[in-house]
Amino acid sequence: MLRIGIDLGGTKTEGIVMGADGGILQRERRPTPQAEGYEAILASIQSLVAHLERQAGERCRIGIGTPGAISTRTGCLKNSNTVCLNGKPLPADLARLLGREVRIANDANCFALSEAIDGAGRGQPVVFGVILGTGVGGGIVIDGRLLAGAQHIAGEWGHNVLDANGPSCYCGKRGCVETFLSGPGLARDHIAHGGDPALDAPAIVARAAAGDAIAEAAMQRYLERFGRALSVVVNILDPDAIVLGGGMSNIGRLYSEGRHQLARQVFNDELRTALLPNVHGDSSGVRGAAQLWPIDARG
Ligand SMILES: [Zn+2]
Repeated sequence: MLRIGIDLGGTKTEGIVMGADGGILQRERRPTPQAEGYEAILASIQSLVAHLERQAGERCRIGIGTPGAISTRTGCLKNSNTVCLNGKPLPADLARLLGREVRIANDANCFALSEAIDGAGRGQPVVFGVILGTGVGGGIVIDGRLLAGAQHIAGEWGHNVLDANGPSCYCGKRGCVETFLSGPGLARDHIAHGGDPALDAPAIVARAAAGDAIAEAAMQRYLERFGRALSVVVNILDPDAIVLGGGMSNIGRLYSEGRHQLARQVFNDELRTALLPNVHGDSSGVRGAAQLWPIDARG
């Protein structure tokens, strides 16, 4: 049975049909009608599935990746940045609309699953997938299976506190990893130390490479914090591979100097964990959503 993967984001919704060999047979991208509300988003997903199944010529399994998590207590979505989805029973409503079980997981978990199954972490028993972008998230895959966790928050290292006196975070705490390691986090730290407020994260990385002292100091702080924040994860999970995704994962220095900072701060005299850039790029979210169903799923 073919699998449909859907990446439901705040601005766009992307869907694919995945073949048994992991190849993408169809792809369709549409805007997410966030301004029109929850019912409009449900209708948009229903229409996207109908379109993809017409193209595929058969009824498919459906997996969806989206920010936030399904509450184990209520069955409703929580912590989504598409706020009209929060508190809504998305899995139940989609199952009713589409006439079948729909698997839904956090988008960072889908990234981790995709990279663990047939991406950079392929063949590794324990993979920690990391999103470093406008936000910081993560997911844990063990022997090819996602670890959801009792609260469905396994891998959410972005809201570990790195500095209790740090910047306030939207989650209500201060100094979360995300407030330092996201793209906006780097830009904020750069400004706080006298940097040009007009520069965003990619510009700071470029300035540092060109020899700018203020930008370079911000990069040094960023790399040290990257190592310190990840060392907490490594000390607990001890993964075989860490795969980086999101816009900030393009920073080449993470894999050399960042890795050195990580090795320096883990509780061991060496670091055997592989630190790798992702293979599937922007497609990892939809790929992982489809892979929420195993290849041989029957039903
Ligand atoms: Zn936070």
